[in-house]
Amino acid sequence: MKRNHFLKFIGVTVLFVLLLALKSFTFLQNKFTRNQLIGKGNPDIVGDSYTSKMHKEAKVAFLKMKTEAKKEGINIEVVSAYRSFQRQKEIFDRKYKKFTSQGLSPSEAIDKIIEYSTIPGTSRHHWGTDIDIIDSNAPRSKNVLNEENFYGDGPYCKLKEWLNVHSESFGFYEVYTNNSKRKGFKYEPWHFSYIPVSKPMLQEYKKLNLKAILEEENILGNEYFSEEFIQKYRTENILDINPELL
Ligand SMILES: [Zn+2]
Repeated sequence: MKRNHFLKFIGVTVLFVLLLALKSFTFLQNKFTRNQLIGKGNPDIVGDSYTSKMHKEAKVAFLKMKTEAKKEGINIEVVSAYRSFQRQKEIFDRKYKKFTSQGLSPSEAIDKIIEYSTIPGTSRHHWGTDIDIIDSNAPRSKNVLNEENFYGDGPYCKLKEWLNVHSESFGFYEVYTNNSKRKGFKYEPWHFSYIPVSKPMLQEYKKLNLKAILEEENILGNEYFSEEFIQKYRTENILDINPELL
């Protein structure tokens, strides 16, 4: 009998140690690499198109949310999900060339770009956790990601009202909120982030040396990213978001 007790004790101890080892292994696995954080390769991304590529966990939660919304006659459609570094660079370069050819100075062009768009390597869309969404059951306007579409008589006000009540229960939080004191990117009622993954990613992202990365990656207009500019961009554009996500 005593021997049985002893074996049971050993068994439980071994199990406990194994569980601990598994937990620390998972913890190690959860660390994000520099490239993962700046949109240059992420093994957790699933999907095959611009609107379906997402972090695998965000995708599962998104599909649950979509199914629930459908019951209310809302068909949530993703217009933008995971965006690679390269794709963001194309967007940034195109705008940079356009604005400077219109006569803006490089610094003015950069300021104009970052009203809505990010500098490559700094987009939350690089993480696969953030999505821009509309309601495909509603009439489609030319410029779908427009604040007015989400309020009043706008085509997506039903979606917005539903998201206000339900999105957080699926893990999706608004990022660039309608808070007049908030700086950085303008209000984006369409942009939601899957908090269980994006919150730890932001914590890791904060440890990166942004200036060094932008230099290494040879971003257009890079010589105008002064220390002061980067600091302001980090404080306002990257970190002045919905405080729940910090
Ligand atoms: Zn977005």
